Amino acid sequence: MSRDTRDDAAPKWNRERPHTLVVACSDGRLQTGVDDFLQRRFDLVDYDRFYIPGGAGALAASGLEFLRATRLRRECEFLLVAHSVEHLILLFHGPAADGPGEAVCADYSRKMPAASPAEIRAQQDCDAEEVLRRFGRALEQVVTHVFRCEVAGDRSLHFQLLHERLCRA
Ligand SMILES: [Zn+2]
Repeated sequence: MSRDTRDDAAPKWNRERPHTLVVACSDGRLQTGVDDFLQRRFDLVDYDRFYIPGGAGALAASGLEFLRATRLRRECEFLLVAHSVEHLILLFHGPAADGPGEAVCADYSRKMPAASPAEIRAQQDCDAEEVLRRFGRALEQVVTHVFRCEVAGDRSLHFQLLHERLCRA
């Protein structure tokens, strides 16, 4: 773009870091729902984003993806330090018990092609524990929330809290 076409109404770069990192799935069907939830629950508009297939689930091996999970956790740990992150929000997603099967996370369908939505939900519960355990001391100074964004039968989105660590070490 040349200088002549520069937009006078262009948004401004924000010098301040938001100190919050959100790890979520790349699935764009959730985007406006996630933004709305983060604003209502945490008054968050600006936040660092780590959007990858599977979201928080990509940080867990789920029994087979050890190299990928380790590599992605290292990228997260880099951001925690480099961006002085004080609040980490880890998001899984999928259908609620009465939700549509097509809402299953594509990354989990890839990892667990024969699993039912209920089995994937159970795996995500295990994966949430695994992610927190494997981050270990990297999260000592970081307030951490883990949610699963669930799509109900009427397509409404509900954020189920899986873990909450409010106290800093
Ligand atoms: Zn997904």
